[in-house]
Amino acid sequence: MLLATGAHRAAELLPGLRVPEHHPVTVLHHAAPEPPMTAPALLVDADQKGPVTHTWVTTAVDPSRALPGRTLVTSVVLGTQAAAPSASLDDAARGQLAELYGASTRRWELLALHHDTRAVPAMPAPHDARRPVRVLGGLYVCGDHRETSGSRGALASARRASSAILDDFGLRPAARDEMPLRAVA
Ligand SMILES: Cc1cc2nc3c(=O)[nH]c(=O)nc-3n(C[C@H](O)[C@H](O)[C@H](O)COP(=O)(O)OP(=O)(O)OC[C@H]3O[C@@H](n4cnc5c(N)ncnc54)[C@H](O)[C@@H]3O)c2cc1C
Repeated sequence: MLLATGAHRAAELLPGLRVPEHHPVTVLHHAAPEPPMTAPALLVDADQKGPVTHTWVTTAVDPSRALPGRTLVTSVVLGTQAAAPSASLDDAARGQLAELYGASTRRWELLALHHDTRAVPAMPAPHDARRPVRVLGGLYVCGDHRETSGSRGALASARRASSAILDDFGLRPAARDEMPLRAVA
């Protein structure tokens, strides 16, 4: 069996499993009348003014994330400062986003504000970035809490766990002969 849940649920299902501290993250989604930036780029709050740490125009990355003609802007606030009521956080974020994008945010509409107190596992030093994924005979666990916080760590631990399962159950397919390279006219 492979447990691929977050750390808290994994420890409920498998008592004794280590549960790290977590950091909170808040995500704001705004609809804008026009794109404040056309590039599919990440803007970082290098001056650390806050509350937003980074932001991007989601529809510049993936236009299907909004109805045609609509612009979706996504912004991230790290830490507990987002415990403020959503209206004041939205006000503070809007002022900062106007500076970051160099565009007015007055007509932006707040579509959603998601606050998750357990968004990413904390990684205080010394951090073990490769916790075992094989915990008992036939029992495997993966997720960012077994590697490093974020999607990259989650995927890397899933790769380690699936690799261990293939090895343990003798399921690893024989390496395929390399395809010969052919010139294409
Ligand atoms: C608001 C927010 C913003 C974030 N921003 C970023 C970011 O910008 N960059 C980044 O890299 N990471 C970010 N993260 C972190 C990233 O989402 C996680 O690191 C990643 O999703 C962890 O993957 P995972 O597979 O370990 O767990 P999860 O993605 O949590 O997947 C666990 C799955 O298990 C399911 N599950 C739980 N219990 C059961 C059960 N009993 N039976 C069956 N299924 C179950 C859940 O429904 C869930 O689908 C953010 C997280 C949040 C919450």
